[in-house]
Amino acid sequence: MLRRRIEGLLDTGVYSAGPVCAELEEALSAYTGARHALAVSNGTDALVLLLRAAGIGPGDEVVVPAFTFVASATSVALAGARPVFADIDPATYCIDPLSLEKALTPATKAVMPVHLFCQPADMAGVRAVADRHGLQVLEDSAEGIGMRWNGVHTGLVGRGGVLSFFPTKTLGALGDAGMVLTDDDELAERVRALRNHGRLPGSGRSTGAGGLAEVAPQGVLAGTNAKMDEVQAAVLLTRLAGLDEEIRRRCELAAAYTERLATAPCVLRLPAVENRGAPVDPVFYVYVIEVEDRDGLVAHLAAHGVETETYYPQPLHTQPCFAGHGHRTGDHPRAESAARHTVALPLYPDLTEEQLERVCSAVHAFHPGADRDDR
Ligand SMILES: *Cc1c(COP(=O)(O)O)cnc(C)c1O
Repeated sequence: MLRRRIEGLLDTGVYSAGPVCAELEEALSAYTGARHALAVSNGTDALVLLLRAAGIGPGDEVVVPAFTFVASATSVALAGARPVFADIDPATYCIDPLSLEKALTPATKAVMPVHLFCQPADMAGVRAVADRHGLQVLEDSAEGIGMRWNGVHTGLVGRGGVLSFFPTKTLGALGDAGMVLTDDDELAERVRALRNHGRLPGSGRSTGAGGLAEVAPQGVLAGTNAKMDEVQAAVLLTRLAGLDEEIRRRCELAAAYTERLATAPCVLRLPAVENRGAPVDPVFYVYVIEVEDRDGLVAHLAAHGVETETYYPQPLHTQPCFAGHGHRTGDHPRAESAARHTVALPLYPDLTEEQLERVCSAVHAFHPGADRDDR
């Protein structure tokens, strides 16, 4: 199927933002329920375009959780605004609504909850704060494909969200690709213009001055090139057909890990799906556990041939690129603790039962403090 699709596009000679991208947009719109699914170059560009299209810019502040992928916050900076950090809910690793409310200032224009690892953020709590203070909710749902909050796909609970199709994501391309999701016609129109040098589809002309006035009454938006490649769209369309089965398998493997690791002596916390204020549909993008001596466990597992991944070893408020924003170590203790203690175990749809068992035995064999010679 993939070969046929790629040969097909070799025949057309259209390699960027063509009919295959349009087909993918339609398919993702159907899959997520989004009125608009807009194919772009990657998840980070999707975030920047989403923020810019929502009118976020210089002088504005956006509240972002302190424990997430760096692009959740750099995208705010790239849009010209200032990321302000909030602490996380220790059970979900997603933004804590109470900490969010404390981070607000008169300059706050939006909040960007991030749906991390296996479940959506507490969107009832986030929306309550946003509604009270008149803030936009823009979701970093880069990891969120298939996750639903109260029956609504992530990215569509607030004004808009994104998807990343980076190769390691739940739905991965053979390179970089991403998407903006929204039900908002005006926002979608601005993203369409921004991703293609400010050009509106079908207008056949640059909308640098006159044309953009229709979509950007506030002034001229300088567009960029953030279009998706046709070949990535072909890969994604092909893989989308098997996505639900892969998601089911990921959940099955996660359940097997949880059952097998419940009694492992080094484990402080296993993933737990929380239905805060509304039921959620989880998707195990990664399986993250917490241990006291994380670096010790990582070394121990590596010595047993098990590769792990440490997602976000440094909380964002302590990163040099956000120095000078007045954030200090100690400001967000739960984010700092998560950065110190979490590690992701191998999880992908074709992981076998035997491989999972080998990982679990190795975790069981790690006794805090009694295993130092493995380091
Ligand atoms: C992967 C990811 C991104 C960025 O996506 P890219 O496609 O790699 O640019 C942003 N936010 C989160 C939470 C992610 O996991």
